[in-house]
Amino acid sequence: MRLVRLVYYSHASREMSLSDLKSILDVARRNNQAQGICGMLSYEQQYFLQALEGERSAVNELYLDIAEDPRHDEITIISYEEIAEPFFKQWKMGYAGGSAEFTKLLQSMGQTEFLPDTMTPQQAFKFLQHLTGNQAEL
Ligand code: FAD
Repeated sequence: MRLVRLVYYSHASREMSLSDLKSILDVARRNNQAQGICGMLSYEQQYFLQALEGERSAVNELYLDIAEDPRHDEITIISYEEIAEPFFKQWKMGYAGGSAEFTKLLQSMGQTEFLPDTMTPQQAFKFLQHLTGNQAEL
């Protein structure tokens, strides 16, 4: 079995409420559990940044579905790589959004705003890795 990690960012078609985010996460967690996919989603300033990890064809298919979702656009892959082991395996889909820790983390990366389109693949993954410790209840 080939495992991959795909990281992308996108721009929400409108400002997302907590209930919008919860409905994305509820479906994501249910579907991902069934497909053996895990990952981390973050949302702030109308940008999404998400990592998807799992079996290669399952991740590819899910990404194509997500890319068709009208709730966002400008979907751009930041990185796609084969991995030996999933980093986010504890989370069917973890979530973190704007919070004091989120802002502190951005500042530690020299950013004042959440602009995933300016992140390198290494920065995007590191950011999502750090966010696993600062998750919001959703
Ligand atoms: P349903 O949830 O019943 O959706 C059926 C169709 O309706 C889909 O085409 C869906 O795109 C569309 N749809 C559903 N709700 C809305 C809405 N409120 N407004 C407009 N269209 C809507 N899914 C996962 O399985 N795993 C993930 O990790 C994941 N991450 C996501 C991250 C982001 C940023 C977004 C925007 C969506 C994500 N999704 C994820 C949802 C994904 O795009 C599909 O909606 C979902 O996989 C379809 O699930 P379903 O087949 O159970 O159908």
